[in-house]
Amino acid sequence: MNFIESRGNDGEQALNVSFSEAILSPMASFGGIYVPEALPTLGTNFLEQHLESNYKVLAKAILAAYEIDIEGAVIDEALALYDCFDNPQNPVPVVRVKDDLYVSELYHGETRAFKDMALQPFGIVLSSLAQQRNENYLIMTATSGDTGPAALETFKNRANVRVACLYPEGGTSDVQRLQMVTEDAENLKVIGIHGSFDDAQAALKTLLSSASFKAKLNEKNIALSAANSVNFGRIIFQQIYHIHSYLELVRQNAITLGDKVYLAVPSGNFGNALGGYYAQKMGLPVEKILIASNNNNILTQLITTGKYDLRDSTVIPTTSPAMDILKSSNIERILYDLFGAERTKNLMLQLDEAKFYELTIDELAMLQQYFAADFCTDAEGQQYIQDCFADGYLMDPHTATCFKAYDTCRDKELTTIAYSTAEWTKFSPTIANALTGEEGTHDLYALQTIAKKANIAIPDKINALFDKPITQKTVVDKADIESVILEFLV
Ligand SMILES: *Cc1c(COP(=O)(O)O)cnc(C)c1O
Repeated sequence: MNFIESRGNDGEQALNVSFSEAILSPMASFGGIYVPEALPTLGTNFLEQHLESNYKVLAKAILAAYEIDIEGAVIDEALALYDCFDNPQNPVPVVRVKDDLYVSELYHGETRAFKDMALQPFGIVLSSLAQQRNENYLIMTATSGDTGPAALETFKNRANVRVACLYPEGGTSDVQRLQMVTEDAENLKVIGIHGSFDDAQAALKTLLSSASFKAKLNEKNIALSAANSVNFGRIIFQQIYHIHSYLELVRQNAITLGDKVYLAVPSGNFGNALGGYYAQKMGLPVEKILIASNNNNILTQLITTGKYDLRDSTVIPTTSPAMDILKSSNIERILYDLFGAERTKNLMLQLDEAKFYELTIDELAMLQQYFAADFCTDAEGQQYIQDCFADGYLMDPHTATCFKAYDTCRDKELTTIAYSTAEWTKFSPTIANALTGEEGTHDLYALQTIAKKANIAIPDKINALFDKPITQKTVVDKADIESVILEFLV
């Protein structure tokens, strides 16, 4: 399968590229991104055939449908990373919370957030490609807190790859920051910037498209790539767990094979939701995908009104910071899939230039065939965490936003799969506050409070972070990012 460009072709780039080219050089014509030429379909008996498959077997079958140019041995090595999850037999447990609400826990990997699901295997694929081609890559990533640790973890000490990771200083939890700044592998550079995640992402985009930066890297024999969620190398791994979670519901007798379900997804850059949309298009019985946001409710606005309006909008810091995003990059792939390249180019251009676009009534109706949306305030999220804990389930503030969408967005009585994207350990002060009312606590104290209250242990890896030396101390203004990176590469 080949990949084409979301905003059409400018006559200079290739008309279509292989999977490996799309992930090594993810920037397409006119500032667009790569999309599959056609989505594979799973075939009528696929789900039935894989009812008893474990995660890796299912993953292999889904990847095979894509017919990508990656050797089987590399795919096996990539999928073997799921063996390092808490339960290698089932890396993604699906837990019943109510009769018609199940939580699919995507956080049982190394860095305790759902980014591991895709970034871990993607890292193996990318560094294998670099080695095979005898090329050196600089992977740039911007993080609101979870991508960074997962990217650093997957690429540390890997040959032919170096990582520069930008994070908003003060915009992450203590645990997330410590997961990054205590990384000491020589091929990793962690850079705090004064600004928000959107600033970090904008700085990343500028560098990725800067000819002079590329030329300077070229002199050092280094090519540029990105590990952000627009990279299809991540998206391809994000369809698997939606299909797995559905099959889990069948195995648990919560639904019968063929029944439709809702997927409730806490959304930021829309990679997780896009994976659900692609899974649905490939043949998974999904009624609708419920897009959960926090007070940065740009996606709620888009899906309920057809307007994407960035005029006068600024990022509002919330207790679910991984979703504190206004420019949700993977929406572009939905626009492409529903309306085609010409219209996508036109809409994205309007967004760049006028900070606004509006879908037609017909376009909005198409979007609403697949998606419904609502947002959850911090106070509402706190209440959901509290209520859920009283019912015996401990969840993080991102996951809590799904509970609002579950309450308000369904128009049919169908079972819902809500995705839990982070372990309680990553956002402990917010959770401790919901459970005890105490405010302004540090992560370590909050972790201890929750552990005691819920009668569970703090995972060793999280505890150990607080005693590790801090090796990554760089914090700079946006203007200085380029020089810091060039210095790191000497
Ligand atoms: C990244 C992240 C999200 C948002 O996921 P997208 O795929 O970017 O929409 C939600 N919750 C947590 C905890 C995350 O780390």
